[in-house]
Amino acid sequence: MLLYRIGPEGFYAIAEDQTGELRLLHSDPFSTRPGGFELGRSVDRETAAFLAPVTPGKVVCVGRNYRAHAEELGNPMPAEPMLFLKPPSAVVGPNAPVILPPESSRVEYEGEIAIVMRDRVHRVSPEVARSAILGVTCACDVTARDLQKKDVQFTRAKGFDTFCPLGPAIRLDADAEDLEIVTRVNGAERQRGRASQMAFGLVDLVVYIARIMTLEPGDVVLTGTPAGVGPLADGDVVEVEIPGVGVLRNPVEALATGHHSV
Ligand code: ZN
Repeated sequence: MLLYRIGPEGFYAIAEDQTGELRLLHSDPFSTRPGGFELGRSVDRETAAFLAPVTPGKVVCVGRNYRAHAEELGNPMPAEPMLFLKPPSAVVGPNAPVILPPESSRVEYEGEIAIVMRDRVHRVSPEVARSAILGVTCACDVTARDLQKKDVQFTRAKGFDTFCPLGPAIRLDADAEDLEIVTRVNGAERQRGRASQMAFGLVDLVVYIARIMTLEPGDVVLTGTPAGVGPLADGDVVEVEIPGVGVLRNPVEALATGHHSV
């Protein structure tokens, strides 16, 4: 079951799969289990404006969770999950442009599986963590690689506005599967990985993070990127796909010179 959020109002809508009938959701997906959902009228997929499927209070990210990606950047694998944060102001939805800032000359894509939390959790067992996950969506952890290497920590390199595309849908019943993640630039495949290749799995990560900070409903965890990261340029289109969830597609645009307001 796929959960979408539709503009301009931000209503939730639900479909069985990527081509199935899309219906407005009258229930709150954070407090109602899918079996109890009350559905409203049909929505036309062709004209619907899909938004980021959630507006997180925080975005917690995991670095070097795939061995091949750690090796391609010359880094050792960490003994514990390596965490950093992206600001919620970086989140954009499907089809929104990723803006290349003039402060960086090397902005790269990182396609990632994102966890969306349903329940508030702090210091929980794996069983509770698993049931507290609402579902998964596609994310692009856009990174100014030159600034990441220059700065001691990642806040600037990972934190520019538009550097966290999310969507197009949250898959609500995906926890037990070996999810696949694929990244394409202008239609050419650049990354392909599976959840089973992660050093720390989805539930492990929620348990670990919730020992440090309370995870709230709607918070998002980016679970790391497979090998194959590379640059984005003005005019590119970047796609992150999780088969069974959908394709997150975003155009890439350089910030116009002399442009000072949004
Ligand atoms: Zn990442």
